[in-house]
Amino acid sequence: MMMKNFQNIKLSGLGMGNMRLPLIPGKGDGDIDFERASAIIDKAMAAGVNYYDTAYVYHSGKSESFLGDALVSRYPRESFYLATKFFIAANPDYKAVFAEQLKKLKTDYVDFYLIHSVGDDSAKKYIDGGSVKYFEEQKALGKVKYLGFSAHCSTKTLKEFAEYRKWDFAQLQINYYDWKYGNTKEQYELLKSMGIPVVVMEPVRGGRLAELSPEANELLKKRYPDRSIASWAFRWLKGLDNVMMILSGMSDMSQLEDNLNTFADDASLTEEEERLLFTACDVFRNKLVIPCTACRYCTDSCPSQINIPEFLRVYNHIKTDGDWASWEFEHIKSEGKPSGCVSCGVCTEHCPQSIKIPELMGEISEKFGKQ
Ligand code: SF4
Ligand code: SF4
Repeated sequence: MMMKNFQNIKLSGLGMGNMRLPLIPGKGDGDIDFERASAIIDKAMAAGVNYYDTAYVYHSGKSESFLGDALVSRYPRESFYLATKFFIAANPDYKAVFAEQLKKLKTDYVDFYLIHSVGDDSAKKYIDGGSVKYFEEQKALGKVKYLGFSAHCSTKTLKEFAEYRKWDFAQLQINYYDWKYGNTKEQYELLKSMGIPVVVMEPVRGGRLAELSPEANELLKKRYPDRSIASWAFRWLKGLDNVMMILSGMSDMSQLEDNLNTFADDASLTEEEERLLFTACDVFRNKLVIPCTACRYCTDSCPSQINIPEFLRVYNHIKTDGDWASWEFEHIKSEGKPSGCVSCGVCTEHCPQSIKIPELMGEISEKFGKQ
């Protein structure tokens, strides 16, 4: 197992995220299949994975209890590191949350404690509400060993929050796709310049980088037929020197086995392999994303008065980030909806990108019914 130095301890390169544990078939997110999930923990422990990340809200509040039972109760406390988080939107009472967490986790201290999902709206609330100060006190008491935060926010907010105090670490969504097309690179480099080591979350973008398009997959498979597509994402991350930990939310044994194989040593990608990966990333994105430039040449002539570029923008967001982004449809200002498209084809005649707009309007209304 690849190991990394963090302050005066050694962390396994791979950490286990506990938000996508196997569930009892047919049941909800809170119904973790203890037998299958604990078998993953056992195998991870046997292989040297020593970092286990959870949060108050994961698996409808059951992830922490699961770790208390499957990990903390069954292994010597000093043989692993626990990470959990305080999420103000779930319960602002940080004292009560922390007491509940210690109880659920069956421990009297947490190794890595994070202010959870700092956002542009919540950053100030965390500080003004007293939670950061409280967890600093817990650190002084030894109930928290290392204090950090996870963030999904603008770089401006990230900078302000990172500068608020001397954090031990921070957790960011980093993967090669967001590195190329999002603001991940600038956020990573900001934290690096401030001397704050990074824990990586969403290394395969919630699973979307585990399989790319057939053309992109072929490029990578041609190079290394035996390597999984997901393993390219992890190997690329291994090359970032300010990364102290790479989390993977493993749902089954095959994912763990593949990851253990990837983290058997600390080899990253060569420059040539990295170029190939970013080429595959471009091929994947070009296939995935509708190339609308929002020129609006199509809108005036639409008899159904559909705000076509806006619907395509949101559809692109869904394609790259998942169905959760469909809430944005509700905020589109448009007289007509995709379901009102009469397939006249006038829009396509005006579109310099030759986008098959009527087909896409049909897809949107079919997949997202009320649109
Ligand atoms: S095909 Fe549909 S979207 Fe295009 S102009 Fe006609 S009604 Fe509008
Ligand atoms: S004409 Fe084509 S590129 Fe321009 S806004 Fe409409 S769909 Fe997008």
